[in-house]
Amino acid sequence: SLNGKTAVITGSNSGIGLGVARELARAGANVVLNSFTDRPEDHELAKSIAQEFGVEARYIKGDLSKGAEARGLIEQAGTCDILVNNAGIQHVAPIDEFPVDKWDTIIAIMLSSAFHTTAVALPMMRKAGWGRVVNIASAHGLTASPYKSAYVSAKHGVVGMTKVVALETAKEPITANAICPGYVHTPLVEAQIPDTAKKYNMTEEEAVEKIILDRQPSKQFATVEQIGGTAVFLCSDAAEQITGTTISVDGGWTAL
Ligand code: NAD
Repeated sequence: SLNGKTAVITGSNSGIGLGVARELARAGANVVLNSFTDRPEDHELAKSIAQEFGVEARYIKGDLSKGAEARGLIEQAGTCDILVNNAGIQHVAPIDEFPVDKWDTIIAIMLSSAFHTTAVALPMMRKAGWGRVVNIASAHGLTASPYKSAYVSAKHGVVGMTKVVALETAKEPITANAICPGYVHTPLVEAQIPDTAKKYNMTEEEAVEKIILDRQPSKQFATVEQIGGTAVFLCSDAAEQITGTTISVDGGWTAL
């Protein structure tokens, strides 16, 4: 059980981050939720996790496109045994038309923020004598698709940084790994189904199978609970010697 451990999950007021936070809380960890907003519902979310799982839960605002705020998040958390770098956004455009500000923001939120949070969290893990870095990369950390230059670059970068952190902590009771999801069922993906069906003049079932899950051989979405469960596994004793690697949760995408 992860009783007494504190997990900081970036970008965790929705989707995968929230799913990971819930599964870590279910396993007994205290959790710190984060996003760039500071709405009553963000803090309510933390309260509901605390009540449901009997753990401590807080929400800390931090815009991870800014290095100082990424560092501030971990400093404000005060302790960080489990660091889950999850915050992410997407933008799709050919590279010669890719907006420069979008490139900069995607690299900042998805790659640089993980550098900043890890830099502040590692000394805390060393002091505690135990630590886990879990980076939410993507099948796009291992393969590419056209028009996703910033996303694919950031995710490959995260996989590379994961390996470096693993080597720098190899002799310590700290591990660093990346989870590489294929398509995961999140509100964001759910919202794309009707539009995709309309665009290709298909039923929603066909659009999911033929278009959205084109590259996912299982023809099923992964769930946020499955990504959370993988994170819990990486925090378990069984995973003590798993470090510097990637775990794909992609229905066979990267086997193709
Ligand atoms: P999502 O939009 O539901 O979640 C993204 C989270 O990041 C949200 O909580 C959002 O508030 C937060 N965020 C965005 N910009 C931020 C900023 N500047 N500062 C702080 N937080 C910020 O999307 P998701 O699908 O849950 O994605 C989560 C992660 O999983 C991303 O890194 C994404 O690349 C990765 N991923 C998703 C899928 C998928 O199919 N959904 C597949 C592979 C990888």
